[in-house]
Amino acid sequence: MALGESRGHGCACKNRKDGPALLPTGMCPACLLKAQAKFVRDEFPGLGENAPLFPGNSGTFPSKIGVISTISALAGQLGKKQKTHSGAPCWGGHAMRRGGAQYLAAAGVDVWRIQALARHSSAAVLAYIEKAHIPTLKSISVEAASGRQQHALTVEVAKLKELICKSLRANETKENIVALRSPENNSARWICTEKAGGKIHTKSKTSPGTALCKWPWAKAERTTHCEDAFGPPNDYRLTCVKCTRAEKNQSDDSSVNSTDDDNPSVGCTE
Ligand SMILES: [Zn+2]
Ligand SMILES: [Zn+2]
Repeated sequence: MALGESRGHGCACKNRKDGPALLPTGMCPACLLKAQAKFVRDEFPGLGENAPLFPGNSGTFPSKIGVISTISALAGQLGKKQKTHSGAPCWGGHAMRRGGAQYLAAAGVDVWRIQALARHSSAAVLAYIEKAHIPTLKSISVEAASGRQQHALTVEVAKLKELICKSLRANETKENIVALRSPENNSARWICTEKAGGKIHTKSKTSPGTALCKWPWAKAERTTHCEDAFGPPNDYRLTCVKCTRAEKNQSDDSSVNSTDDDNPSVGCTE
């Protein structure tokens, strides 16, 4: 094996976790390589990590003649001619490299990927694949069309997502308003109308649904319960003078009302 950058083969058979079994294990490059490496380690334990991946009988690197005659013998077993009419050998030492490149090209694998995998030069890979990639070119229009379709779908899905999010947000806001208007929602200490500029009132603890100034907020159309005395977030409002006075006097609601000259129900309904 030539030295260089390392390349990885992913398992494509049933041994792969959560993956589709695209090949039988007997044809899976990753599993076959693993099995071959194990075979060499078991067969020649003394060679260690420097053992050839495909050693000869004695564990040394095979000779070129040995490789060619192995390929030729395998071809013979497959019923292929081993010699031409003139008696010249049909199979060379690069037959596997050439055959592998042609196999991948005919399967539609990009030429540049085959070149990178097998460390071919660009000239060599084209000579090797001998236009085996040409028949797969007819699918280019299909690939381009499906690519465009995918793009259109992506855009459509994004639009749908935006619409769904919008409607979810709208529903959420509606629910929040309903929850906030409910008189049972007593967690907040202050209350005001939704109208900007409305004053902040302090809720009465003794008579739920009204403010300390007697404003019957539970009957109001749109109110906002406030967790702090400044009013809704980022909307600083004036506080109701009567509510403040009532709180200061620490009196109960009725005594404030009775000592106040103004009609609180008019003064505090905004
Ligand atoms: Zn595998
Ligand atoms: Zn008030």
